[in-house]
Amino acid sequence: MSDCLFCKIISGEIPSSKVYEDDVCYAFNDIAPQAPTHFLVVPKTHIGSVAEVDGGNSAAVAHIFEVIAKLTKEMGVESYRVVSNIGEQAGQSVPHLHFHVLAGRDMTWPPG
Ligand code: AMP
Repeated sequence: MSDCLFCKIISGEIPSSKVYEDDVCYAFNDIAPQAPTHFLVVPKTHIGSVAEVDGGNSAAVAHIFEVIAKLTKEMGVESYRVVSNIGEQAGQSVPHLHFHVLAGRDMTWPPG
């Protein structure tokens, strides 16, 4: 999508701190980290949020979770949180599906 922030990051139009990239997804450090480790993993295809996941695009989501497992292992991160906000009330600020990966500090439950 031409006016999507994360589509522009994926294309390189907006710079980012890349963590990982393959044909399906792109991972980059969050610009406002909420934990010592905080990166985002996004599908290269524009999907608005988890609410738009269906049989036609769910393989990309499964792939992203494989990538999260691989990257965290490589980083030596054993305990972490994966978060995806859906909609404004839940705190979604960028309407392109993304999974936050947070680690490196104690976390509380329930989340705020
Ligand atoms: P959410 O609020 O769940 O939609 O998450 C969006 C995330 O994108 C926030 O944690 C922001 O800090 C992050 N973010 C916004 N702009 C950028 C950017 N240019 N580079 C990296 N992360 C960004």
